[in-house]
Amino acid sequence: MISSRPQHNEPHPFPVIDNCLHIGGLALTRLAARIGKTPFYAYDRQLLTDKVRVLRDKLPADVHLHYAMKANPMPAVVQHMASLVDGLDVASAVEMHVALDTVMPAARISFAGPGKQESDLACAIAAGIVINLESELEMQRAARIGTQMGMVPQVAVRVNPDFELKSSGMKMSGGAKQFGIDAEQVPNVLKRMAGLDLAFMGFHIFSGSQNLKAESIMDAQEKSIALALDLAEHAPAPMQLLNIGGGFGIPYFPGEHALDVDAIGQNLAKLLHNAKSRLAGAQVILELGRYLVGEAGIYVCRVIDRKISRGQIFLVVDGGLHHHLAASGNFGQVIRKNYPVAVGNAMQHDALETVSVVGPLCTPLDLLADKMQLPHAEAGDLIVIFQSGAYGLSASPTHFLSQAAAAEVLV
Ligand SMILES: *Cc1c(COP(=O)(O)O)cnc(C)c1O
Repeated sequence: MISSRPQHNEPHPFPVIDNCLHIGGLALTRLAARIGKTPFYAYDRQLLTDKVRVLRDKLPADVHLHYAMKANPMPAVVQHMASLVDGLDVASAVEMHVALDTVMPAARISFAGPGKQESDLACAIAAGIVINLESELEMQRAARIGTQMGMVPQVAVRVNPDFELKSSGMKMSGGAKQFGIDAEQVPNVLKRMAGLDLAFMGFHIFSGSQNLKAESIMDAQEKSIALALDLAEHAPAPMQLLNIGGGFGIPYFPGEHALDVDAIGQNLAKLLHNAKSRLAGAQVILELGRYLVGEAGIYVCRVIDRKISRGQIFLVVDGGLHHHLAASGNFGQVIRKNYPVAVGNAMQHDALETVSVVGPLCTPLDLLADKMQLPHAEAGDLIVIFQSGAYGLSASPTHFLSQAAAAEVLV
C-alpha cells in the first residue's frame, strides 16, 4: 500500500510503501540489513539521473553542465554523474584522481581552488585537465612546471568579480577574497600570460553557493558574461571556455521553496543569444554540486536509547555530527534549524510526539533534530535525515571522538 507523505515534514522524493521509506527500489529496513550496519548514507541513482535530465530540459541546449565533485566525492556517485554531465570540476588532487578514473575526457575536467601544490599542478598538467588559476604566482608555477615537463598547460583564469551573488548562502566573490584574481588585475595578468608557455582557455567566475532566488542567479550570470567578454579583449588567445559558476540551491527548511530553474533557463538563453557574436563559439559552462546530488541522498542512523530528561524526550542514535556536520547546524549556519527528519520504518504513526534526536558524542552540539514532531520511535528504529546527498560525510569531522565510520552506498 502506498501511503501519502508524512504531514510533519517537507516533501521528499522517496516513495513510502507499507509505512516504510524506499530508496533505490529497496525498503529502508532491507537496505539496512544489506549494508549490515548503521549509520549509512544512501544515494538514489535514478533520482540523480532524473535530476540532470529535468534540469537539462530547462537549460539552453548549448550550455554545458559540469558536476562540482566537492558536493559529493563518493567514487560511485562521481562515476554515475560522469555518465550524465558534460564535465567534472575538482577542487583537490584526490578529487582529480577520482575524476580521471571516470569516462570523462581529461579536457572536460577542471581544477579550481587556492593553494594548489606544485605536485597537484604537475599531475593536472600531465593529465591534460584545465587548471583554473587562482593567482599570478600559480600562473608562473604552472608555466614553469609545463616547461620542465615539455607540455603546454591548459589554463583558465578564475576571476574574483567586483560584484557578489546576492542572497546566497555562501558568498565567494566580491570584495577581498582568497578565490581567484581580482577582476581589475586580470588585464595585466593576461598581458603577462602572453609571454608564458600556457594555453589560455577562458574564464571561471564562481560567485556563491546555495541560492534559492532565481533573480539573484540571473543577475550574477548576466554580470559574469559581461565581465568575461570585457576581460577577453585582453586575453592572449580567443576564449574557448566560459564557466559562469552555479550557486543553485535546494530547500532545506520550512518556508524555503525550490529554485525556479525555468526562469533561469529562459533568461540564460536570452543572454547567450544577445552575446552570441562576441562569445564566438566559446563553450558556456554551469558548474553545480549541491543542486544535482543534494536531494538524492539520505543519512540513516539507528535509535540506541530513548530517555526522558525533565519531561523532554531524547532519542539517542548511533550517528551524529561526526558524520553529518551540516544537519547538526555547525557547517556555516548562522541559526540552527532542523533538517527534514523522519522515522524511516514508521513513516506514518497516529501518535506524534516532540523529540530531540542526539548522537553519541560527548558534546551538546551533537544534535540532529531539536524538539521536532516525529512519530513515536523506540530503540531499533531507523532515523532518516533527508537532503543529505551533498556536503554530508565528506564535510564532517569523521575522526572526532573516534566513533565508527559511516557506510556509503549508491542504490
Ligand atoms: C563549492 C563550489 C561549487 C559547488 O557549489 P554548490 O553549491 O555545491 O553547487 C562549484 N564551484 C566551485 C568553484 C566551488 O568552490
